[in-house]
Amino acid sequence: VAIVGRPNVGKSTLFNRLVGRRMALVHDRPGVTRDRKEATATLFGLDFLLIDTAGLYETTDDGIEARMRDQTMLAVGQADLVLFLMDARAGLTPLDRHFAELVRRSGVPVVAVANKCEGGAGLPGLHEAYGLGFGDPVPLSAEHGGGFGELHEAMVAVLGSGGETEEVEALEEADDEEGDAKPDRPLSLAIV
Ligand code: GDP
Repeated sequence: VAIVGRPNVGKSTLFNRLVGRRMALVHDRPGVTRDRKEATATLFGLDFLLIDTAGLYETTDDGIEARMRDQTMLAVGQADLVLFLMDARAGLTPLDRHFAELVRRSGVPVVAVANKCEGGAGLPGLHEAYGLGFGDPVPLSAEHGGGFGELHEAMVAVLGSGGETEEVEALEEADDEEGDAKPDRPLSLAIV
């Protein structure tokens, strides 16, 4: 599973939360140490290898940023699932759209994740995330721990349930009670 998105959307925060104490297993690979972090991660009994990519930068030269983008696309090509993160508080940016297009061309299944959704400030951004074209975005708060039940559901829909335990449902319920990232205000709809 590869976490992808423009800089500052919360990729590392999500990586650390999913990897948890297993962070100790993170290892460096010669040549790609600055670009790629990977470790085993678990979410409600679903175990997977998680890759935190360096992020996507728009650049035309062949400097460090182009190398980071190339490494990111390499990780995408090797993944069974891409978690495409956007910052719901910042809204969808042209850079998000640009990189969504790159990732889409890889043909790898994608779950769109609208991060920073805690407290309702991300609601407009969550709606914009539909514009990525990856289906229903998952509202998440990587930092404050909300929305992980929905993330798990979306991941299982692509990956299958693997070796999950029966405690999963109880854990999901607990997670949703703890920090439901979905704001409960009515949908504001504009016809333009
Ligand atoms: P990356 O560059 O995509 O890896 O992003 P980081 O994980 O470094 O996070 C960028 C910033 O966003 C940091 O200041 C985080 O504390 C903040 N951040 C990450 N997740 C959340 C979240 O769920 N809610 C809010 N409000 N901030 C977050």
